[in-house]
Amino acid sequence: MTSFPWQSAFDIREHIASGATTAVDVTRAYLARAEELNPKLSCFLYVDHEGALAAAAQVDRMRDAGEELGPLAGVPVAVKDNLCTRGVRTTCASKILGNYIPPYDAHVVEALRASGAVIVGKTNLDEFAMGSSNENSAFGHVHNPWNVDRAPGGSSGGSACATAAGLVPLALGSDTGGSVRQPAAFCGITAIKPTYGRVSRYGLVAFASSLDQVGPIARSVREASLLLEVVAGHDQRDATSADRARGAYHAACSRGVKGLRVGVVRDQIDGLQDSEVRQAVEAALTSLEKEGATLVDVALPHARYAVSVYYLIAPAEASSNLARFDGIRYGLRVPDKDLSDTYAETRGQGFGPEVRRRIMLGTYALSAGYYDAFYLRAQRVRTLIRHDYDTAFESCDLLCTPTTPTPAFALGEKTSDPLEMYLADIFTLPPSLAGLPALSTPCGLSADGLPIGIQLVAPSFDEERLCSAAQVVEDACGLVNSPPPAFA
Ligand code: GLN
Repeated sequence: MTSFPWQSAFDIREHIASGATTAVDVTRAYLARAEELNPKLSCFLYVDHEGALAAAAQVDRMRDAGEELGPLAGVPVAVKDNLCTRGVRTTCASKILGNYIPPYDAHVVEALRASGAVIVGKTNLDEFAMGSSNENSAFGHVHNPWNVDRAPGGSSGGSACATAAGLVPLALGSDTGGSVRQPAAFCGITAIKPTYGRVSRYGLVAFASSLDQVGPIARSVREASLLLEVVAGHDQRDATSADRARGAYHAACSRGVKGLRVGVVRDQIDGLQDSEVRQAVEAALTSLEKEGATLVDVALPHARYAVSVYYLIAPAEASSNLARFDGIRYGLRVPDKDLSDTYAETRGQGFGPEVRRRIMLGTYALSAGYYDAFYLRAQRVRTLIRHDYDTAFESCDLLCTPTTPTPAFALGEKTSDPLEMYLADIFTLPPSLAGLPALSTPCGLSADGLPIGIQLVAPSFDEERLCSAAQVVEDACGLVNSPPPAFA
């Protein structure tokens, strides 16, 4: 399982550094695979042949000159299309930004380039990262590589699909309420939503600024940890970026869980209607216990309000963030008889139905007379949810929940019922509202061959603990060596 396209980022770098292969050859092979499979999967919105080959050639030049190579030298990486890439179209899967070419790189993109990574393309997503199935993209559905009639999850469905199907070993996504964790669970891979403030949001197109974080996606916990190490760190250009040293996430994968108190959010697990998800999560918990962790039951009494709270706060912030797309400064412009008609026509035609729904919901929640009843109250409950975690972390060091209530649902299954779709995020929203780091990693397969994920949640800025525990789960019940059969 270590041959193309399933080699790890570590192997790829090693083979390039030792001279066994070149970065250009590696890149050509992955570009050819993307060319072949993207028409089936639609995970890439744009494959940057020229840019990728130029970055690879630069790595080869550095190697030939005996210069020190970065931690991702020559490793192909896919980037979600809501992260700005200088000179390369960044659409947010929206018609309103269909032709937008940013004049600058996001912080995380700069970090990737500095590490020697080869950015092979921009991945599909739900428009402006609003969605849980990738069906809200203006540029077509992404398919789940485990079963192409199923959703890959959202909103980072393109990044998750590309990684799971072996089009790249690593990808970046963004997570506001579950958008790296839920697609990772659906596609059988690992993703980390870092602590709010851990990774700079500079150059990430804003959806809900008090929640948005960039997150690494990979087929193994070790690779996700390495990618987090590359992109984490303080950045003055994001006022909410935390001035804290990044952790040794990769090293933490070898630490084990001996003596760790793992909090089991009992009612979330016992309440699962899907018995396969319940059994897989229980099996992962048993594996943690076997390796020396102690399980303790904990409760998050206010977590059941998370869907209501999130779907007030996130749309409210989106309605103000998306006000900048007015047909004047960026992207699409639909000229009309006067300025206000130009705004209305541009926004009416440029945004898809879910984005328009969120803008309307959010504008309503923020409007005079309703602000206290909706937005302010939601903020108060958000504080109660954070307090639930503070209390829980008095008796444990780490929390475990399912990532999603079910494995991947069918494409089209939930598109006519937004509330059903929103409920797909029931377990990923609470840690997002509390700003906590959370990780999803596979813990089994359903009888019909669909991956199941477990979510681990740690105290603020303790991503290392997530990596240590996730590695134990991966060793016991991960899918690293069993890629989706149709693409193996
Ligand atoms: N699915 C959630 C939503 O639709 C979360 C999306 C995200 O994390 N970007 O808002």
